[in-house]
Amino acid sequence: MPLNDPELMRIVMDRKLNKKICRRCGAINPYRAIKCRRCKSYDLRPRKLRFGGKKIK
Ligand SMILES: [Zn+2]
Repeated sequence: MPLNDPELMRIVMDRKLNKKICRRCGAINPYRAIKCRRCKSYDLRPRKLRFGGKKIK
């Protein structure tokens, strides 16, 4: 389903690309996560991917 509305597209990309990475175990958590789902650590850092960006481990 193509998204033609730029505003909607922006929101979707924000939600898809904004992830949080645990500094302790490196697990990727949802962008709204408060703590890591794997090790329950609160030490999360946000990550923002760009278009064409490759996944950094
Ligand atoms: Zn963790």
